[in-house]
Amino acid sequence: MTLLAEDVWFRYGRRGPWVVRGASLTVAPGEVVGLHGPSGAGKSTLGRVLAGLVRPQRGRVEVDGAPPRPDRRAGRPNPVQVVHQHAHLAMDPLWKVGAVLAEAGAGAGAVDPALVPPELLDRFPHEISGGEAQRVNLARALLAGPRFVVADEISASLDAITQAGVWRLLLAEVRARGIGVLAISHDGPLLEAVADRVLDFADLAASPDRVVTG
Ligand code: ADP
Ligand code: ADP
Repeated sequence: MTLLAEDVWFRYGRRGPWVVRGASLTVAPGEVVGLHGPSGAGKSTLGRVLAGLVRPQRGRVEVDGAPPRPDRRAGRPNPVQVVHQHAHLAMDPLWKVGAVLAEAGAGAGAVDPALVPPELLDRFPHEISGGEAQRVNLARALLAGPRFVVADEISASLDAITQAGVWRLLLAEVRARGIGVLAISHDGPLLEAVADRVLDFADLAASPDRVVTG
C-alpha cells in the first residue's frame, strides 16, 4: 500500500545528463514526506516519474505493486496526482471554477467548502487569487480520488499567510482520507513544518529513505 521508487534513473533524451541517479524512496498511505533540494536538482522530474508521467530508463516505480497510471477501461484516474507551482497556468482561462470541478467529478458537496468556498465556483481563473487557484487545483486533484499526491512547490509563489493556509487545508484533507503526500520544495523550513520526515534529494541515491529531520 505504498508509493515506491527503487533505483530510479532518468534523463531527458538519450545523451542528456542523468537528472535522477538511482533514487529510491517510499511514501506510506497518510504519510507526508518532504523532498528537499535546490532548484534544478531533479525533484520535479522524480515527481513526474513517481506519477508515471514519464518513464525512467532504469528502475521501478509502483503504487500498491503496480505501475502508476490511469485505468481508462475501469474509468479510474491515476492513483498518483501531481499539483504544480503554477496554479493559474494549470487552469483553462475559459472555464469557471465550478465547471472545472464538475469536470473533475464533483457532485454536490464533494468539495470541502473550506478548500473551495462556494462563492468561487462562479468565477473565472483570472478572477481568483493565486492562493485560491492553488486550492482549486488541490480540490481537482483530490476529486480524482488519489492514493498519493505529488505537491510540487505548490506554495512557492504565495505569500507566507496564504502559503500556510494552503498547507493547512491540504494536510487536513489528506489526513482525513489517508492520502500519502510527496511534498517537493527548495524551502527546508517549510518542509520541516509540514512533513513527517524530509528527504534530501542529493541523498536519495546514496542512502534510500535517509531521514534528515522529523
Ligand atoms: P527541480 O524540480 O529540482 O527544480 P527539475 O526536475 O525541474 O528540477 O529539473 C532538473 C533538470 O532537468 C534541470 O536541469 C532541468 O533544466 C532539466 N529538465 C527538466 N525538465 C526538462 C525537460 N522537459 N526537458 C529537458 N530537460 C529538462
Ligand atoms: P518545475 O521546476 O516546477 O518543474 P519549471 O518551470 O522548471 O517548473 O518547468 C516547467 C516545465 O518546463 C516542465 O514541464 C519542465 O519539464 C519543462 N522544462 C524545465 N526545464 C526544461 C528544459 N531545460 N528543457 C525543456 N523543458 C524544460
